[in-house]
Amino acid sequence: MLKANSLPSLKEGAKRTKAPVKIDREGLYVPPSELNIGEGKKYFIRTYGCQANERDGETLAGILEALKYQKTDDFKEASIIILNTYAIRQNAEDKVFGEIGSLKALKKANPDLIIGVCGCMVQHESSIEIITKKYPQINIIFGTHNIQRLPSLIEQYLNTNKRVIEIFSKEGEIYEELPSHRDSNIKAWVNIMYGCDKFCTYCIVPFTRGKERSRKMEDIIAEVKCLKEQGYKEITLLGQNVNAYGKSLEEGYDFADLLEAVAKTGIERIRFTTSHPWNFTDRMIEMIAKYDNLMPYIHLPLQSGDDNMLAKMNRRYNSAEYKRLYDKIRNTIPGVSVSTDIIVGFPNETEEEFQHTLDMVDYCKYDSAFTFIFSPREGTIAAKMEDKTPMAVKMERFNRLLDKVAQYAKRRNEAYIGKTVKVLVDGESKKNKDVLSGYSESQKLVNFKGDKSKIGQIVKVKITGITSWTLLGEEVNE
Ligand code: SAH
Ligand code: SF4
Repeated sequence: MLKANSLPSLKEGAKRTKAPVKIDREGLYVPPSELNIGEGKKYFIRTYGCQANERDGETLAGILEALKYQKTDDFKEASIIILNTYAIRQNAEDKVFGEIGSLKALKKANPDLIIGVCGCMVQHESSIEIITKKYPQINIIFGTHNIQRLPSLIEQYLNTNKRVIEIFSKEGEIYEELPSHRDSNIKAWVNIMYGCDKFCTYCIVPFTRGKERSRKMEDIIAEVKCLKEQGYKEITLLGQNVNAYGKSLEEGYDFADLLEAVAKTGIERIRFTTSHPWNFTDRMIEMIAKYDNLMPYIHLPLQSGDDNMLAKMNRRYNSAEYKRLYDKIRNTIPGVSVSTDIIVGFPNETEEEFQHTLDMVDYCKYDSAFTFIFSPREGTIAAKMEDKTPMAVKMERFNRLLDKVAQYAKRRNEAYIGKTVKVLVDGESKKNKDVLSGYSESQKLVNFKGDKSKIGQIVKVKITGITSWTLLGEEVNE
């Protein structure tokens, strides 16, 4: 029998009640024995997956720094390694297991090394089974609802020298006062809500991240003002479905109200992700068009262009409604760019149904698209659906979709040649140190020749050329 503080249950994780959301403002509890545990030692965090996870990774970093550990980018010199995992598709999990396997030798050579695994993947009972059977090198396993317990879990592991497993499957709280170490000093993620109640039939997130729960507007605004004072130029408001912002609160405000309040802080650039096509209100569109610091870029996940598929996915919109919303966005927000997510090979998708997705791509001519092959996630409704379509057919469709997406992305990029765009300079380009790199207001990656002293600032760049996925240009002083 597996000994654990508490084990996950996907079924429990999907339960929803009307219980009010608790906001915890107590801050981080550090057991006295842990206060200086990290002195002279280093931590390494590997974060997989989405922005919500990246933000969690920053909180984990803040917690480890509260224990006096220092950050390292080289896992070989770390005294504690945390793998912050992701569960959205099987290949994400396979990658994590591959890396866990490769840490075995490191733990053998350094038995004092502490290795922890947390995040969405371990909210699933089957992952715990695999880790406990196959990977003795893992010392601490914790979930998405108890990051703040890390200091106590480290203490328990050091006191007992036995693996600690603590995963809660519940609707979740909001922790307001946890420390964090942000990765960038130019751009910052800001959580506005946690969890998801949409239950798209293919998706594991509502099981692993708990119910939709919004932070209070005053807490978000205080965080944004503080980031602005610290010199941050751009923030991205994060939620699985930002349109649902405010629904869990009594105050009666919604995402459009939040957008307006954040815009009024005067921070230079505001983005948000992800906006679900369902419940995307006209007021949201109006706000984005009205305020210059609300960036003209919308990620509008389509998933499928076929009405039967959309119904089976429980997406709550049909293709006609999606087109109406899409047109309104393009026609109301000047210079807007739109990207999307598409799933190919949902159970029993026919050629005709897939063709409707291609038709929608022809209609929307997206600036970019993230494309995925359906990955059955145990516990979801779609994972139980009959699926007779062979993988080879799915792959062939996927490639056809990729070609189409690339063709429109290129066309959209070409339209920028000769224009001048405002770029927030992130730093030197990864591939070429002589070139600077940053994003335009419409979220185009721009590589350009310019002055390195401008890193962290917004500069004007004249676009002179393109590659498949980037714009190329030169800084101008007009
Ligand atoms: N909350 C966001 C999506 C977050 S997950 C939204 O609703 O838009 C990011 C993307 O992963 C999804 O948009 C979807 O395209 C893809 N995805 C999620 N579950 C998947 C699965 N089981 N198989 C393949 N792709 C999946
Ligand atoms: Fe998953 Fe749908 Fe929620 Fe997005 S809205 S996280 S796809 S269930």
